[in-house]
Amino acid sequence: MNTHPLIDIYFDTHIHTRYCHHATGTMEEYVLSAIDKGLRHIVFLEHMEGAAVNYFETTWLTDKDFDDYFEEGSRLQDSYSDRLTIGLGVEVGYDAAHPEELLNRLSKHCWEQVGVSYHFMPVPDQPFDLNLVSRQERNVQAIRETGCEQVLTNYFNTLTEAVRVLPGTKVCHLDAALRFQPGLELSSGHWQQIGELLDTIKARDMALEINTSGFVIRGTPFPAPAIIKMALQKEIRLIAGSDAHRPEDVGRFFDKILALLEQLTSEINEELA
Ligand SMILES: [Zn+2]
Ligand SMILES: [Zn+2]
Repeated sequence: MNTHPLIDIYFDTHIHTRYCHHATGTMEEYVLSAIDKGLRHIVFLEHMEGAAVNYFETTWLTDKDFDDYFEEGSRLQDSYSDRLTIGLGVEVGYDAAHPEELLNRLSKHCWEQVGVSYHFMPVPDQPFDLNLVSRQERNVQAIRETGCEQVLTNYFNTLTEAVRVLPGTKVCHLDAALRFQPGLELSSGHWQQIGELLDTIKARDMALEINTSGFVIRGTPFPAPAIIKMALQKEIRLIAGSDAHRPEDVGRFFDKILALLEQLTSEINEELA
């Protein structure tokens, strides 16, 4: 098995488990699935959100859950060390109003990866924070009422701030926000924001995640191929993540990443020729 120079497709860096209350399966079931699929290295990337998030259900880990996660994770690291490298990471949802609270909690553990995301956006005139990545109708409706264009602009600004503020190692699913708004198009202003966000990722020496959950939702990964192409032109490191919320989703569609990268690099080379 050869590794690709641009990405390691035997390394899944974005795996959730039932600790987050919206995924199924134990950590061990994900480990067995990864071994079954021939992966060499995985990183669990469990959800942490700011304590001030105002939402009608809990879709993240408590501090106690994180203690259990580290205990079980280290047991699995020992048991499976001959077959799979297992890392314990966190997907941290940024809270622009209380970054110090997140920084404090992040400092309590040693993470193999810190994935930076922005999931919950507080807005006036809504009873709960907007969940930007949810397919639930009440979220989709609340985002529409607030205004998709404005929510997206705020999303990219705040995510860029998160990249500057948090001790991140990668940015997760960069353009997944509002993925369930039908027919939504990025404006030229959004494209400019994306360029600045990528420059910030590069300046912070972070990686860009190619999140293959997008293949299920829209047929392309998060971020979209045009954004991955910009990242290749800026020589930003790429890292693969399945965003698995079920054991069988570990490493999903990683073969499609290679085909996509081949296509994008040949486009870049043709433009240069
Ligand atoms: Zn999740
Ligand atoms: Zn996420």
